Amino acid sequence: MADCIFCMLANGQIPTATIYEDEDFRVILDANPATRGHALILPKAHFANVFEMPEDLTAKAAVLAKKMAAHMSEQLQCDGFNIVQNNGEAAGQTVFHYHVHLIPRYKDGPRIVANWPQSPLTDEAKEELVRELKV
Ligand code: 5GP
Ligand code: ZN
Repeated sequence: MADCIFCMLANGQIPTATIYEDEDFRVILDANPATRGHALILPKAHFANVFEMPEDLTAKAAVLAKKMAAHMSEQLQCDGFNIVQNNGEAAGQTVFHYHVHLIPRYKDGPRIVANWPQSPLTDEAKEELVRELKV
């Protein structure tokens, strides 16, 4: 897609630090890493978010995320790993070309992501949500 920075990065039209590439994806280092090694899986084709992604490519991205996380954990000797994928502005997405964050985590920090405030699920909310969401 014209004017999409991640299309240009994924397809090599703008040079970028690449740590993996195949026919469907490029994995690059995030320009503003949350931790040492923070990388992004980008599909070469343009999809705004997970809802636009074909099922087979979504499955391939999940398998690639697992493989990259294992490889990066081994190489970086990190202590944990976040695989994060944001959809929509309200969910923190800022670039509207599907991408998966690969974020190595270290015991010594920085302590970031997945620290959202939580409150107990009431019985009333539980029943209402099960009615609304059960497939
Ligand atoms: P989002 O908030 O959309 O889930 O994540 C977008 C990510 O893309 C951010 O972590 C940001 O640092 C990264 N990013 C934005 N523009 C560029 C760029 O031009 N090059 C690279 N390598 N990363 C980028
Ligand atoms: Zn794009």
